[in-house]
Amino acid sequence: MSDFETFRAAARRHLSRFADVPVGHLIGGRSEPVDAGADGGTVTFDDHSPIDGARLAVVAAGTVDDIDRAAGAARDAFGSWSATPGTERKRVLHAVADLIESRAEQIAVTECVDTGQTIRFMKAAALRGAANFRFFADCAPGAADGVSLPTTDHLNYTTRKPIGPVGVITPWNTPFMLSTWKIAPALAAGCTVVHKPAEWSPLTAGLLAEMALEAGLPPGVLNVVHGMGDAAGRALTEHPDIKAIAFVGESATGSAIQAQGAPTLKRLHFELGGKNPVVIFDDADLDRAIDAAVFMICSLNGERCTSSSRVLIQESIHDEVCRRIAEAMTRIPVGHPLDPDAVIGPLIHPRHLEKVSGYRRVAEEEGATVVEGAPWAEAPDGGNWIAPMLFIGADNTMRVAREEIFGPVLTAIPFADEAEAVAIANDTDYGLAAYVWTGDVGRAHRVADAIEAGMIWVNSQNVRHLPTPFGGMKRSGIGRDGGDWSFDFYMEAKNIAIALDNHAIPKLGG
Ligand code: NAD
Repeated sequence: MSDFETFRAAARRHLSRFADVPVGHLIGGRSEPVDAGADGGTVTFDDHSPIDGARLAVVAAGTVDDIDRAAGAARDAFGSWSATPGTERKRVLHAVADLIESRAEQIAVTECVDTGQTIRFMKAAALRGAANFRFFADCAPGAADGVSLPTTDHLNYTTRKPIGPVGVITPWNTPFMLSTWKIAPALAAGCTVVHKPAEWSPLTAGLLAEMALEAGLPPGVLNVVHGMGDAAGRALTEHPDIKAIAFVGESATGSAIQAQGAPTLKRLHFELGGKNPVVIFDDADLDRAIDAAVFMICSLNGERCTSSSRVLIQESIHDEVCRRIAEAMTRIPVGHPLDPDAVIGPLIHPRHLEKVSGYRRVAEEEGATVVEGAPWAEAPDGGNWIAPMLFIGADNTMRVAREEIFGPVLTAIPFADEAEAVAIANDTDYGLAAYVWTGDVGRAHRVADAIEAGMIWVNSQNVRHLPTPFGGMKRSGIGRDGGDWSFDFYMEAKNIAIALDNHAIPKLGG
């Protein structure tokens, strides 16, 4: 059997469970049955495949009551999980990572069929989920550690305590990997979690919670409530027992969550949208720069917050770089997500396809030249198929240069010199990531320093190192993840001041 056939067979095997039994919430360690048929039974929604529109699963649509029960389970489990020694939390989280690794193929093929992302990236994403758990597992024993800040009359020392039950709300683009990136540090810190996965790709969330239980995570420590953002998501952000919300998604949704969380003074962590520039100077290694620019817009279907969606090219090399990027993009294989040769699969949802493909007309109306890649000739009917697109001759005032498209669509903009490159890079509402390509060390430092973004890669694509801070400025986010930054969010810092009994205490009224 070819690898393609092997993955298809695995997908049939693993997806059949969703076709047979509706997907319910997992609350207090129990997978809840969905009594969709009964009068007054569970309200449900359908989950469709981006490949051909077929129905993959019927999923419970969480209500205020479901969130209340999940928050209650997380509250009840918090006392003992937060008191569990860090070394024990470490052991359990490594056991979760072991299970993720052993079931990586199941996770990857499920994710491919549910999201349309291709197997070449989803295999790695599943394993990255395990790596996230291992990284934060190793941090768990030291999570509460603080610093000593002595003065002449007091010894100050700090410690950290888990903040309490937290809500994690995730998007549909790489759902499994992203949820581990938020949930693993919360669990390592000693928090309990209610996870509300995205309604367009809900299938792997339950797998993670099941694996966590199997690995020995106590019931109630990780709960999953499926459903819509404006119902289950909203209820989670408004629940008084939920102390913090870690959210990954659109900037507009972040604003809504900020308002919803205000009455209960939620602590919020936002990883939001981007319109990330890749800036190519004429002294750059062009072969590497072009490969990286194409990779960062075509991998993960371009449905990637850190995608290089604007390529800023120095005028002297503009035509050559555009020509070479166009050639590469027209050769990118679009195909079935389970085909190991495919790079781009179908987009997540018909609504998203309509949005992304609509930018072709916008670009033409704005006066840009559109280069389109080759569609997949055998694409099944009913799927959300697209070919990559490059918009040449754009300027930064155009909608295609300003709006997050979130697909395999790249806008090319020329610049004259370093000052103009920085000005264009910063002329955006977003500030998540930027990529700078130059052979000049001084310029690399100057431009990296001047660009307003939370993460800058110089002469590189998005290569992650988990202890480093991940997050954005401006409308791209609030707060950082990674290493100790994650614990700053999921934990409360406490200062304890012990007098050395040699300081004066004012004597009033005596
Ligand atoms: P989205 O904001 O529409 O939805 C994200 C999640 O929020 C979903 O689970 C949804 O149900 C929920 N939600 C929606 N409305 C809500 C509300 N009022 N209250 C509570 N929850 C609500 O985002 P999406 O379309 O699923 O994902 C794409 C977006 O995610 C893009 O903008 C992308 O840039 C961003 N993203 C950012 C990062 C990052 O790290 N910065 C990573 C991945 C994706």
